[in-house]
Amino acid sequence: MTDGARAATGSGRTPREVGTHCPYCALQCGMTLREEAGRVTVLPRQFPTNRGGLCQKGWTAAELLDHPERLTTPLLRDPVDGELRPAGWAAALDRITTGVRAVQGAHGRDAVAVFGGGGLTNEKAYALGRFARVALRTRHIDYNGRFCMSSAAAAGMRAFGVDRGLPFPLADLGRADTLLLVGANPAETMPPLVRRLTELRERGGRLIVVDPRVTATARQADLHLQPLPGTDLAVANALLHIALTEGWVDRDYVAGRTTGFEAVRRAVAGWWPARAEALSGVPVADLEATARALGTAERVIIVTARGAEQHAKGVDTVTGFVNLALALGLPGRPGSGYGCLTGQGNGQGGREHGQKADQLPGYRSIDDPAARAHVAGVWGVPAEELPGPGVPAYQLLDSLGTPAGPKALLVFGSNPVVSAPRAARIERRLRDLDLLVVADLLLSETAALADVVLPTAQWAEEDGTMTNLEGRVLRRRALRPPPPGVRTDLEILADLTARLRAGGGPVPAGDAGDPRVVFAELRRASAGGIADYAGVSWERIDERDGVFWPCPAEDGPDTPRLFGDRFATPDGRARFHAVEHRPAAEEVCAEYPLHFTTGRVLAQYQSGTQTRRVAALRRAAPGAFVELHPDLADRLGIGDGEPVRVVSRRGELRAPARLSTAIRPDTVFAPFHWGGAARANSVTNDAVDPVSGMPEFKICAVRLERVERP
Ligand code: SF4
Repeated sequence: MTDGARAATGSGRTPREVGTHCPYCALQCGMTLREEAGRVTVLPRQFPTNRGGLCQKGWTAAELLDHPERLTTPLLRDPVDGELRPAGWAAALDRITTGVRAVQGAHGRDAVAVFGGGGLTNEKAYALGRFARVALRTRHIDYNGRFCMSSAAAAGMRAFGVDRGLPFPLADLGRADTLLLVGANPAETMPPLVRRLTELRERGGRLIVVDPRVTATARQADLHLQPLPGTDLAVANALLHIALTEGWVDRDYVAGRTTGFEAVRRAVAGWWPARAEALSGVPVADLEATARALGTAERVIIVTARGAEQHAKGVDTVTGFVNLALALGLPGRPGSGYGCLTGQGNGQGGREHGQKADQLPGYRSIDDPAARAHVAGVWGVPAEELPGPGVPAYQLLDSLGTPAGPKALLVFGSNPVVSAPRAARIERRLRDLDLLVVADLLLSETAALADVVLPTAQWAEEDGTMTNLEGRVLRRRALRPPPPGVRTDLEILADLTARLRAGGGPVPAGDAGDPRVVFAELRRASAGGIADYAGVSWERIDERDGVFWPCPAEDGPDTPRLFGDRFATPDGRARFHAVEHRPAAEEVCAEYPLHFTTGRVLAQYQSGTQTRRVAALRRAAPGAFVELHPDLADRLGIGDGEPVRVVSRRGELRAPARLSTAIRPDTVFAPFHWGGAARANSVTNDAVDPVSGMPEFKICAVRLERVERP
């Protein structure tokens, strides 16, 4: 059944149904929403990514539609007592336009910044980029995707000339003979995907997982490599070293389809397995078994995710596994390949259409004169008026309110008070702003600091498109309109643009706030770009299970599989890059003797603004915890469930101890979904990857202390 098969059919007491997709992660599971007598229920829907399956988050997603904490009116901070108070839309928008004009008048256009999110629809991500560049004319826009996928994106761009999470349909995972998952835990992050892993194993395929923790996914693996956090790159180089030694490198593929192998060969020559074992703790025998499973099977897929990426060397770590895949001749080989598991719901589309600091729609570079001319033409402005590149997310957040940084910030679909590294510092930066505007459906920790809060529509109340982890463009469909007093992000951007335009700004095209109009313009703006959506229409998506980009012509094919004949580089060849292991930005020492790493739990999502308010999810995962090995707990005199404090050079978190043999004795783990005293990002390091700007969420040095009960 296609997406469009169950369109809305009635109103009032007549049951209404619509086929749409889950609001949360990049698997974008198909679901049917059914409304009867005002009550909305979620029903599973057959779709290629989930085949009728949903996780607990998807099943309970409708609970937020009528949640008592839902924002239904703008809030303005009272300048006298500092409280947030309900206000009308006119007053809220006036306060924003007055504030923006005052800040830009005093400090210049770049004194206003915009911060977006990887959960925004393609239309919103596109409109936000246009709003920043054309209505505000600021170079400062970036988004929380920098925290999620940017290292794999950068590695993919430099190796393949294109960044599409999976360059093949998800179904290929279940048909592989060997699947290597690096830093990915789909059993907790994307449970319906696990059926692919089960299929693989039932067919006799081998699942190998690289993860410092014995995760739910690692428990299903045929082989689990458990390296010290921050040593994945050494593991990748050692695997390629073994493949070279054993003669498993595909010489014809390397010669015919790639460049740069010789430098990589020299670089990995020094990564003999015993050296990698000494550094990572992964036994030589396991490294050899993994290399053999990769080097001798027919259909082989290597997949990386946040565990490999969220490091100050994340791009190089992902590149190490891309090098391995290229040397084995995997990308473009039927049934084989390299891919990255995108995290956020529109993590893929959200990084294609212009909410990144260095990017214009269609994955175009904002530095490219031809790209600027094309997009400026679509926007109806002179190319020379488009601002240049801004700075990546953490750098932007860390400059807020400083003498050289922006003095005003508009946030859409993000909660950096919980999700940014070194979060207490970012919280202080936000407090230093002259104007903070947050558009959200609930009062997130970031919204609670705002001068103006704008209530926005939810996924079941808006139309648009999302692009899932396979590069498949999908339709999000509205079941019902937003409640009175609530507006969509697109309507808000259109309202603000109209008000700022009255102040003399340029006139952007297509600012109706209508997602169809915005998508039509996005298609034109992306035409000819790397992520070309010119041939993707809503009707075409409705006729089938989505459309894979690039899709340059409406009467031409889409592209479920990339790299069959050539890569998206000028000469069509993939690029090897020699990469070397280097230590984490912060190493353990006498004062901070333990490694700290962060991640997710099954029943919560991202900064938890939504999922922490869903009763069933709160019951399943009521709060943060600190996972530590029983041997470490013994040494420190910590009992299971006792309150502990994790302290780094940047701050501390407090949560109950959870003893588990799933973690190494030299490492502690905490999930990052909670704010307040349990905020994991109070502790994390703000060192960033020099290429992608991704922070090092996955490793820093800490000490662990018991908190004496009062
Ligand atoms: S959160 Fe992800 S895995 Fe769970 S139902 Fe939604 S899209 Fe599917």
